[in-house]
Amino acid sequence: MTSVAEASPAARAGLAVGDELLSLNGEVPRDVIDFQRLSDAAELSVVIRRAGAALPRSVRIAKEAGEPFGVQVESAVFDRIRTCDNHCAFCFIYQLPKGMRRSLYLKDDDYRLSFLYGNFTTLTRFTELDAERILTERLGPLFVSIHTTDPDLRSAMLRNPKGATSLRWLRVLLSGGIEVHGQVVVCPGVNDGPALEDTLAGILDLYPELSSVGIVPLGVSRYSTEADMRPHSVDEAAHVLDTVHRWQRVFRRALGHPMAYAADEYYVLTARPFPTARSYRGYPQHENGIGMARAFTEAFTRRGRPGGAPAGVRPGFFAAMDAAPAEGYRSRRVLQGPGHGAAPDARPVTILTGSYGAAVLAPLVGGHGRHDVVLHEVSNDFFGGNIGVAGLLTGDDVARALHAIGAPARAGGRRYLLPDACLQEGRFLDGLTLADLPAPVEVVPSDGSSLRAALDGTSFRPGCAP
Ligand code: SF4
Repeated sequence: MTSVAEASPAARAGLAVGDELLSLNGEVPRDVIDFQRLSDAAELSVVIRRAGAALPRSVRIAKEAGEPFGVQVESAVFDRIRTCDNHCAFCFIYQLPKGMRRSLYLKDDDYRLSFLYGNFTTLTRFTELDAERILTERLGPLFVSIHTTDPDLRSAMLRNPKGATSLRWLRVLLSGGIEVHGQVVVCPGVNDGPALEDTLAGILDLYPELSSVGIVPLGVSRYSTEADMRPHSVDEAAHVLDTVHRWQRVFRRALGHPMAYAADEYYVLTARPFPTARSYRGYPQHENGIGMARAFTEAFTRRGRPGGAPAGVRPGFFAAMDAAPAEGYRSRRVLQGPGHGAAPDARPVTILTGSYGAAVLAPLVGGHGRHDVVLHEVSNDFFGGNIGVAGLLTGDDVARALHAIGAPARAGGRRYLLPDACLQEGRFLDGLTLADLPAPVEVVPSDGSSLRAALDGTSFRPGCAP
């Protein structure tokens, strides 16, 4: 246990940080999903092992049914995370340089992480027992990587013969009434063009119960060793958008909803306007970079609650868990809330962000009314290629940008804002922290209302100023 909440049932029973949970009501929980289910009971029989104790200890706990047990555990999965047995040419993990944090190299393909964090699974390691558990415990929504409905092409893309058949599990899940969202990573020259047409037709034909399908472009870093993997040209991106829009009309007519949504990146690449907020129908794939730009714009212009999710964005199951940590699976961002009582800050502002963020922010900053706000696009020299999202900027990239704009010399006279998407557990992807930067920066939650509040000069204080 990594924390025990004060006055909680666990604390009252004498459980302490460091205790190892062995069983709950006679069952050994496999993961936080089991843990949550078992710990919901009013009567708990808990077996723990305390460091240094010769024998496990049994504790009985009486609480209200559904009352939180009050402990945090170290990991969301207590047995082994299921790793993937695919070798996709477009896999971003293969495009990471050596020497980064170990957790970044984890190729998970575990339906539990799909349920808990929205990670996509190919189902190539899925089993009958998994299906039984999901259907019995109603574990949804789940997120499935489809890529193509052509069995041969799918096994070629995943470089795994099981890729040809593993979508049979998608059929099982949908027939069992589980909410599933799919994605297609589009690789130019591989599964775009006629292959994408066939895939969308295949989805209509075989998997019409899917709740949504995200169409996302592959990212290519300069560490890619795959000769066939290349970024979309503008014409190819336009073609994908035209295909998705045409199929949205088909899906709407056949199923009553648009089903397929193109990633924001396609609109940025082609300089086309983002779809309306309404057309995203609750932003089912917001975390997959679909509708983020529109949700951000809505929150920025409508002055929503700083730090709050834009209307309609689902926070995911994780938001409801009191025991599951996000570390190692999905970043918990460094949120720096409003500085209560902070005096309005009228210093001029520079916003640092990636190239895609800059494309979204440019019209918003231009229309904000302040004339002393500068938008600075930070190029991602670390990953290179077509990597333009703020979430993949490294500390080194940001430090270089701060030097280039003379921030160290101006420190104190200007505010430098950075989206929190750049940080995971207070660190950039290259391990640097805010303290390693050459000038103080203020970390702003990556939602439009928080940026708006930061520009209004009242809300955010610098983080770890060097
Ligand atoms: S399934 Fe995902 S993690 Fe596994 S190789 Fe393919 S892209 Fe990488």
